Amino acid sequence: MKPSLVDILEPRLTVLDLDHRLKLARELVPGRIVFTTSFGIEDQLVTHSIFTQGLEIDIVTIDTGRLFPETIDLWERTEARYARRVTAVYPQAQPLEELVAEQGINGFYRSVENRKACCHVRKVEPLSRLLSGASAWVTGLRADQSQERGKVRLAELDAGHKLLKVNPLADYTRDAIVAAVEEFSVPINELHGRGFLSIGCAPCTRAVEPGEPERAGRWWWESEEKKECGLHVSETGELRRGPAPERPR
Ligand code: SF4
Repeated sequence: MKPSLVDILEPRLTVLDLDHRLKLARELVPGRIVFTTSFGIEDQLVTHSIFTQGLEIDIVTIDTGRLFPETIDLWERTEARYARRVTAVYPQAQPLEELVAEQGINGFYRSVENRKACCHVRKVEPLSRLLSGASAWVTGLRADQSQERGKVRLAELDAGHKLLKVNPLADYTRDAIVAAVEEFSVPINELHGRGFLSIGCAPCTRAVEPGEPERAGRWWWESEEKKECGLHVSETGELRRGPAPERPR
């Protein structure tokens, strides 16, 4: 049986650094590759690598309409720094109007179902359109970000989108990311300095206390096991579960 791109990529990526991982993925994967950024610190490092190497990888964000002003500011600063555009995909107008009419502008606080419906309209559906026709999806996921992301691998099949997914920072620690963005003067979100480690939509993200898990500030009113937005689905079709493996770097 012919080996899949996942089987080919995974062992080769393991021994490379970020720049060479992205370069190799671009060399081995034909067709359109999309990197989705939410302008978090990991995403900024991946953006830096793609732009400075001039790789043909589209960098796209999902503008949910509820982003922090600081995130929008970073978007603009990123384009200015690299003289390149970060394009955007938006929720469809009619489903969004219906959602807000049905549950109210902040209806996601009232139930997990409402929250998932909002994430679906504002994030999941736009992502599906964005990835349609792509050959691969690059993300800034790290395995030690949370229990839900503990099984993230360098290359894997995303069951939800039936697409090769490359996570070139899967085995990086947050400290390694912070050191790299400082070394290369990569622009980052001002909110990181105010205790926001993981940054999503403004009404659904709070700062975390010292010692709290990185993603504790996301959908903080919900229990831990419900905290994913449906964007990332494992090869078995499950949302990310399981303990983060120890992968010091
Ligand atoms: S994170 Fe919050 S505001 Fe953003 S799409 Fe999900 S529920 Fe809606």
